[in-house]
Amino acid sequence: MSSQPLVIGKFSLGMGDRFAHEAEAQLAACLAARRLGVEIVPVWNKSNREHNIIGSEPTSTRAAADAAVKALGWNAPYFLDADHIGLKTVDRFVGVSDFFTIDVADFIAQPADPAAVQAFVDRHPELVGTLSLAGIDRPFTTTRADVERTAAKFLLAVQEAGKVYRHIVGVKGVGRFVPEISMDETDSPQTPPELLVILAAIADEGVPIQTIAPKFTGRFNKGVDYVGDLTQFEREFNDDLCVIAHAVKRYGLPANLKLSVHSGSDKFSIYPAIRRALAKHGAGVHVKTAGTTWLEEVIGLAEAGGAGLALAKEIYAEALSHMDELCQPYATVIDIDRTKLPAAAVVQTWTSEQFVGALRHDQKNPLYNAHIRQLIHVGFKVAAKMGPRYLEQLKACRESCARNVTGNLLERHIRPLFL
Ligand SMILES: [Zn+2]
Repeated sequence: MSSQPLVIGKFSLGMGDRFAHEAEAQLAACLAARRLGVEIVPVWNKSNREHNIIGSEPTSTRAAADAAVKALGWNAPYFLDADHIGLKTVDRFVGVSDFFTIDVADFIAQPADPAAVQAFVDRHPELVGTLSLAGIDRPFTTTRADVERTAAKFLLAVQEAGKVYRHIVGVKGVGRFVPEISMDETDSPQTPPELLVILAAIADEGVPIQTIAPKFTGRFNKGVDYVGDLTQFEREFNDDLCVIAHAVKRYGLPANLKLSVHSGSDKFSIYPAIRRALAKHGAGVHVKTAGTTWLEEVIGLAEAGGAGLALAKEIYAEALSHMDELCQPYATVIDIDRTKLPAAAVVQTWTSEQFVGALRHDQKNPLYNAHIRQLIHVGFKVAAKMGPRYLEQLKACRESCARNVTGNLLERHIRPLFL
């Protein structure tokens, strides 16, 4: 093993593989991107929540990723992301993961020690006043009270991230993993001036983050397109990149620090803005996808027809009848209109083409149904309960599942973002 610190490359793609059968098909998308001239670092992510719902362990993610890398002869870096972990949940990931998404959203707005807040503001007079950052045409104007308010809101969260980071260092050692701090699973977005204060605090805390996942403006619902103000998103995304470039220089954060876009799959309407911003600033990005791959598995089953299609219909029927339970953990990141969900008996009569048309994320197809898509997205517990019966069909329908998984990542994600 090399003693070089682990550093993640400029462009990386988080990929979720709920049932650990798609790693090769996912990696094939990165290989295709490389042949087309762009290096994409694959990062397999699976959150503690997903492991709990499925009943799997992080070692299975490691085994699937390593096997895919070996099978396809991938000779570049790849990572395993302990996704959305905290002090209570990190331990089962520590042995196998080398990327840690330290989720401190629950600590935002919890009261920080007032003395620590005052000390922070005293230490950072440069954050008060008129700040002109390269690349941002309107300077930020902040008062001491503004910085105090922001520090009071985020300082405890940053201190918690420090605790988790040092806990992981205690096991793995400095430089043996890529640390990310995530603040996306909270109610309100962080503005670019807030991000600057957060990054100053992270630098003070001594966490050498390589990626940061703020909550962006707009809705990032699971498995469907972005909903929000595209102009405002683009402005804030650009401003965030400038804030990061400034913080790297000013506070000595790692030079490769980049934004991490969570729930980044399927956000087709903001990809052009992200692409423009990356080109304009020469910046990197981590785009995290997860459940979009599980949806492609179900599409692959349906496309195969026969027993595969029958199982896809059964998953829909079960998901529909357990909708409340399935939606509960994801309540803040889905918007399902129940009146747009067809009865199970109706779906039972569908052809492969109808089922695939409803589920595949092609907004130009009149059959496409974003409500079905979100329901199936959160419905993976149904397949987990089917156990070997589900996995057998994944094997039986390997060709169509793999083709859909690869095609989705390459054509709908990597191509509009990076190629
Ligand atoms: Zn997240």
